[in-house]
Amino acid sequence: MSHVFGRGGADAPVVARARGCRIWDTGGRSYLDASGGAIVVGVGHGVAAVADAVAAQARQVAYAHGTVFRSAVVEEYADALAPLLPVDDPRVYPVSGGSEAVETVLKMARAYHLARGEDRHVVVARDGAYHGSTRGALDISGRAGLRAPYLPWLGQAQRVPGPYEYRCPFPDRHPGGCAAAHADALAAVCARTPVAAFVAEPVAGAALGACVPPEEYWPRIAQVCRRYGVLLVADEVMTGFGRTGAWFGLEHWGVRADLLAAGKGAGSGYWPLGLAVASGRVHAALAEGGFTHGFTYSHHVVGAAAGLAVLRELRDRDLVAASAARGAALAARLGEAVGGHRYVGDVRGRGLLVGVEFVADRRTAAPFPRAARVAERVVAAARGAGVLVYPGTGCADGTDGDLIVLGPPLCVTDDELTEIVAGVAAAL
Ligand code: PMP
Repeated sequence: MSHVFGRGGADAPVVARARGCRIWDTGGRSYLDASGGAIVVGVGHGVAAVADAVAAQARQVAYAHGTVFRSAVVEEYADALAPLLPVDDPRVYPVSGGSEAVETVLKMARAYHLARGEDRHVVVARDGAYHGSTRGALDISGRAGLRAPYLPWLGQAQRVPGPYEYRCPFPDRHPGGCAAAHADALAAVCARTPVAAFVAEPVAGAALGACVPPEEYWPRIAQVCRRYGVLLVADEVMTGFGRTGAWFGLEHWGVRADLLAAGKGAGSGYWPLGLAVASGRVHAALAEGGFTHGFTYSHHVVGAAAGLAVLRELRDRDLVAASAARGAALAARLGEAVGGHRYVGDVRGRGLLVGVEFVADRRTAAPFPRAARVAERVVAAARGAGVLVYPGTGCADGTDGDLIVLGPPLCVTDDELTEIVAGVAAAL
């Protein structure tokens, strides 16, 4: 009997080693990691330069409290990140993961308005959204099932529809395009409540299976945020660090965030690293108003060393451009191989974040009943075929629908793409 609580069941394989896009279990079986774990591993498994940077930093100094010491490696990391972030004059607050980053930027949003003498507290997020496991993240989550047990604790987030072109929430209101309808929906909430922030993923990740908003979506949303003095908060936990074929997802739309949360690919699995980023303008208000916040492990020196080494790998191996090119190839080949399958409704994505949505009826896009557990079964069958894919949970109300998400390390090779497509096809 194991004393570990949570995660893989008793029959889960025991992990032994990993290299590139491949993981081996202790029985010697190899798996192609087509999801980089939970869309985490960007630079690939077993990269010696990153592991060495982590070890070297840990040997030199593994921990020093940020309230006492500044650290050269943390400052170097923030400086290296700054020009890559879709945030003006960015200030980087390193934390230990995506949920911590989301919690931190939510608190920053509230503190920013308070510092300016405005009692704004309402956060607007999107239907079907996933922003993490902690209570503040659940507050703004649109996953009914995840929220249900904790409703007595949860607050007052408002929700608007997310851009989900396969199941457009505005089927009858397209005169100005659905981006206009989305902007109107946000504006309607802002007009009636003191909204502090709008939080969304640039490309909806696992929750809605790599939904890419239309061209006009982000510029129009940004316009509404500006008009109502609402902070635009980008959750780039999944989309950051090259995942969508740009350093950060918002870049595709040329839009800048006031606050940004990152994680996953930042540490690429070598260290649990998250980032809360504020624009210079937000930072100035926080500095003036006083912002009391901190985690024992924030501004971690080993995390910064890992993050810096990951940045170097992404840059030196040109992995962001690789993500764009390989991602386009993956979506196209998947479309060819399984796009016509009678249970595949949609294949979509941007860069190496690709979603496949399963439906009971392609003509009506009717979802399977939840009890059919289709995504779960596809994930299990793909694993049987030696390919690891990530399950999502379809429709915006979070009660039905089935998705898998593919997000292999950005160094995935052409042959490995062929293997991934074959594995998914075999699973179906
Ligand atoms: N935001 C998004 C968009 C995510 O995908 C996740 C993790 N799946 C989180 C936040 C939370 O990150 P973590 O699990 O590292 O706390």
